[in-house]
Amino acid sequence: MSGGPALVLRERKPQGTQVVLGPGLAVGGPAFIVMAGPCAVEDAAQIRDAAAAVAAAGCPVLRGGAFKPRTSPYSFQGLGAPGVRLLLDAAATHGLAVVTEVLEAGDLPALEGVALLQIGARNMQNFALLKALGRLRRPVLLKRGPAATLEEWLLAAEYLLDGGNDQVILCERGVRSFEPSTRNTLDLSAVVLAKQRTHLPVIVDPSHATGLRELVVPLSLAAAAAGADGLLVEVHPHPAEALSDGAQALLPGDLEDLMFRLPGVLAAVGREIWRPALRRRAVAR
Ligand code: PEP
Ligand code: MN
Repeated sequence: MSGGPALVLRERKPQGTQVVLGPGLAVGGPAFIVMAGPCAVEDAAQIRDAAAAVAAAGCPVLRGGAFKPRTSPYSFQGLGAPGVRLLLDAAATHGLAVVTEVLEAGDLPALEGVALLQIGARNMQNFALLKALGRLRRPVLLKRGPAATLEEWLLAAEYLLDGGNDQVILCERGVRSFEPSTRNTLDLSAVVLAKQRTHLPVIVDPSHATGLRELVVPLSLAAAAAGADGLLVEVHPHPAEALSDGAQALLPGDLEDLMFRLPGVLAAVGREIWRPALRRRAVAR
């Protein structure tokens, strides 16, 4: 073995991998999947309102962090297991699937019912966590580390596949550069390269990539045009009151605007936005 990526390479599976999050809900298939929700679950009303906005906009997946990796130990650290329950309850009301972060393997018992387990950017090379999730047969969202090369990102995914778990979605969330105008620099080249080199679905997080609400819709459209399989977007019912990442949170109306504009861009690249009819058809079968 050379030590390079192997199991993730496209030649292993030219038709590509689809990661199934629920009936009629697969990432990496023809439908473009938008996952949206607040940075963090803050309280019952906030996540209930966020879930309602996400469902009203037509997105099938609710995001929200309960186990939060924060740069400062003095920042809001998330609600933990009770936050996961609030998130799952809010999602269930609208038939949404849930994506949330797992900070360590010990969190897993609290994450039953979560459709997609997120490995955060800072944990991309937490090899113990990668090995633990590689032993599961549950979908994993692997964010790119803020300073990880494409090769390092793919090798992190390789840990999951090597453990026997091929239900892996890659997520580009911006890398650290010399440019201070944005929180990170969105690397769309890496999205295209990851799609070309691997058989895994690739989505884009334009919220952490930019840190700026006004850049989130344009870069979401750019990600769709570049061939991403979906988005992970932060939206908050009241961004000014958010306990984390308020400046990059879309307002519910911004999310509706994004969902209205995506189909035209997707049509230009031969894709379509996910529609609830896909789920209804799968359930009826
Ligand atoms: C998140 O999506 O909640 C998050 C913390 O993002 P990242 O790991 O990309 O910084
Ligand atoms: Mn955030």
